[in-house]
Amino acid sequence: MDMDIERLLKSHGKSVTPERKAIFEGMSGLRLFRVKDLLAMFPNTGRASVFRTVQLFAEMGLLRKLSFGDRWEYYEIATDSHHEHFECGKCHAIFRFDAGFICNSLGYLARKQWFFLQSHQILLSGTCSVCYQNHA
Ligand SMILES: [Zn+2]
Ligand SMILES: [Zn+2]
Repeated sequence: MDMDIERLLKSHGKSVTPERKAIFEGMSGLRLFRVKDLLAMFPNTGRASVFRTVQLFAEMGLLRKLSFGDRWEYYEIATDSHHEHFECGKCHAIFRFDAGFICNSLGYLARKQWFFLQSHQILLSGTCSVCYQNHA
């Protein structure tokens, strides 16, 4: 993941601070994360500051927020490749799958019923290969 956070902050008219750089680096090393994961990773940074930074990055379009009911609220670094997620019902591991070809048709399906999509997220549930083998 090569995003130049300094350049991105500047291009959004935001100041580059060591804290913002550190938090961005921290999140870049995580696949999916919750705000509480960042709070644990940066115990010396104020809570409010971590929350504000996540909010800022989300507004800048650097993060994608995933939420499914109240059980789930994760963020991930936004990437060019369009993907969605599988969740293993046994170990709760989350996996990505490439979804461009499916998701391209969602807007069309919606418009047929005069619904105009703004966003979507897909979470498919099942059993991961490890849990499947252990079960067999
Ligand atoms: Zn599993
Ligand atoms: Zn999609």
